[in-house]
Amino acid sequence: MAESVRRLLGKPGAVDLRPYTKLLPAIEAEEEGLRELSDGELTEKAIDLGYAELPYSQNDLVSLCAVGREAARRTLDERPFDVQLLGVMALLDGHVAEMATGEGKTLAGTLAAAGFALRGKRVHVLSVNDYLARRDAEWMGPLYAMLGVTVGSVSEESTVDERKQAYGCDVTYAAVSELGFDVLRDRMVTDVDDRVVPEPHVAIIDEADSVLVDEARVPLVLAGAAEAVAADVEMADVVRGLKPRLHYEVDGEGRNVQLTDAGIDAVEKALGGVDLYSEDDTSVLPQVNLALHAHVLLQRDVHYVVRDGEVRLINESRGRIALLQRWPDGLQAAVEAKEKVAVSQTGEVLDSITVQSLVLRYPTLAGMTGTAMSVAEQLREFYELEVAVVPSNKPNVREDHGALLYATREEKEDALVAKVEEIHKTGRPILIGTQDVAESELLAERLRAAGLESVVLNAKNDADEASIIAEAGTYGAITVSTQMAGRGTDIRLGGSDMTDRDRVVETGGLFVMGFGRYPSSRLDGQLRGRAGRQGDPGDSIFFVSMDDDLLVNHAPETTGYKTTADGEITDEGWLAMVDHAQRVSEGQLLEVHRNTWRYNKLIDVQREVVLEHRELVLSSGQGDRHVAADRRERHEELVEELDADEVARAAKLITLYHLDRGWTDHNAFLSELREGIHLRYLGRRDPLDEFNREAVPVFKGFLDGARARAAESFEELEVVDGELDVSSVGVKRPSMTWTYMVHDHPFSSALETLVGRLKGGRGTSNGD
Ligand code: ADP
Repeated sequence: MAESVRRLLGKPGAVDLRPYTKLLPAIEAEEEGLRELSDGELTEKAIDLGYAELPYSQNDLVSLCAVGREAARRTLDERPFDVQLLGVMALLDGHVAEMATGEGKTLAGTLAAAGFALRGKRVHVLSVNDYLARRDAEWMGPLYAMLGVTVGSVSEESTVDERKQAYGCDVTYAAVSELGFDVLRDRMVTDVDDRVVPEPHVAIIDEADSVLVDEARVPLVLAGAAEAVAADVEMADVVRGLKPRLHYEVDGEGRNVQLTDAGIDAVEKALGGVDLYSEDDTSVLPQVNLALHAHVLLQRDVHYVVRDGEVRLINESRGRIALLQRWPDGLQAAVEAKEKVAVSQTGEVLDSITVQSLVLRYPTLAGMTGTAMSVAEQLREFYELEVAVVPSNKPNVREDHGALLYATREEKEDALVAKVEEIHKTGRPILIGTQDVAESELLAERLRAAGLESVVLNAKNDADEASIIAEAGTYGAITVSTQMAGRGTDIRLGGSDMTDRDRVVETGGLFVMGFGRYPSSRLDGQLRGRAGRQGDPGDSIFFVSMDDDLLVNHAPETTGYKTTADGEITDEGWLAMVDHAQRVSEGQLLEVHRNTWRYNKLIDVQREVVLEHRELVLSSGQGDRHVAADRRERHEELVEELDADEVARAAKLITLYHLDRGWTDHNAFLSELREGIHLRYLGRRDPLDEFNREAVPVFKGFLDGARARAAESFEELEVVDGELDVSSVGVKRPSMTWTYMVHDHPFSSALETLVGRLKGGRGTSNGD
């Protein structure tokens, strides 16, 4: 069998590509005929494919791919490769297409989206950020137009009308978070016409592993204005004076911090002789714990940056600043006090949804990414998605070297700097991946000291991200970056205009160096995948040390090794330990994911019940019918005095208010329950069972309760100037809302313990 044919057959455990590959000759055979058509005729041919329902018959699939290929050639001057068409077919079958960086996923995703759209489905192409959503929609615009499909994009700045317009298109590009925020806001409207997101049909998810696995647990939150929490500056000053180990201890994973007895004494004294554990005043200890958490566990430039006088969170899985994202109130205020910046607006959580629940709303899901196979099981377990491993257009010739292991961080750094020096001399472009922002800055500093100038790509300058990445392949470039997922620009050798390509290929192409292995091998793969695009030459190597977090936290042993004079550990057993530590870390992440998933399942079911009911109130007068039944006399009286429409309007507003208010409170109850339960039942019973045992009965009376409260409010309604004044019965909407994401890892467990500890008192320990 020829190598090229064998490569097209697919991998074990993945979707069988043969049904797709066998259509390739027929697609090619249609090409000549299609070249003869005018642009208008080609469009017509595409639109004609809309005559039937999904799925496509083999014949129609062939036509779709052939027409799509010809349209791409005409509009983008890019003729989709066979492998890209395999990707298109896999996507149309609702799979995750694994395609390496630089293979042209954007184009493959476009043809698949158009394929769904032509058959009457609304398609959301979900990217990881606004920049990519806008770029891809614009870039692919002419192709969609020739296929007779409309396209739009949503970004953070879009107005309500722009959103409606974009979602009204056949295909809509949006960042996952932006879509989620729109969904949350839609759930709070009091007028059907204010909704922007239509019924979900199909989602094609870009960087699918990053969205579906890494970010799956992240809740997107809609918050509303409430009273401000005063930042406790005094508390921040008190903990600033505490000494590590003497006054407080941090657990191994840096997720939990606790005062020692000496620390307790010191704090009590500094606060003027209070008793932290007094039964009468339980408000001080939580404040101390928050301040301590902010001071010790949250590090500037690792977990957040301070910019323009504001504390901004760093999105950990992507190393970029996230707008409008904040921690839960107390913690946010504590960090603001620590950094001595102004207190920002605080609020209460009105509603939230996890990324996972958001995408599971779609009856049809598909995705694309460079690294899917290693999470194939999770994609199957959580999303019923199968992975199709699409071979690369040209064989990958990148050389992936084994990790180099050192005893200490300094030795690892020395080794990396020496390597950069050696490689840089030859003019080869170098890309260095770090674990976090602070590390990338330190490393750049260290390189500078050795006379090596680098460009740093991290959350502090993400505005220039695309151009920095685009130039990372130029002759002699050294680029230092945090995690690579979602940095959706590929690195071309010779820079963006590729003028110098030949010279860079001569040097051996992009050399990728990882400064430490990531918490999962998939993240390592994302970094490696930056080199060797489209058959380019390239190398990748990782530098690891025994004091890397990964090993400290997850290796069974970290002492007793032998080193060379440079501090290198060459023993195979120790090297195998690195992989082992990574597998343990992967297992833990999976466990966290699985747990969140199980909790959220119940919450989703309850939310669905409320939303279904809300829909009846919003669009079919259920609220009015209920108050008319529950408060017949008052209802008749008001209808007579005013008119039926006015009464129905008020009844609707009142009912929606009580439903929404009820949900907000229930939601708060559920998160408190969840946070508390781990500590209460630690090691004795399955916390999830306990959670369900308590959450289910509380919800039983939910709808009836909301209905009863609505009836009560209705009874008390006052008529003002011929109208029903709903504010007279306390019905008002938050004066302002905003959105944010809560990054689960590593804070959620820290936060859970923190909150748990506030309730549990002295000495309660971490749950993991
Ligand atoms: P990925 O997201 O898979 O890394 P992109 O969609 O960003 O890749 O595409 C990478 C580059 O390859 C883009 O510059 C694109 O214009 C180019 N490209 C994609 N498909 C083709 C093709 N069939 N022929 C030529 N160039 C292509």
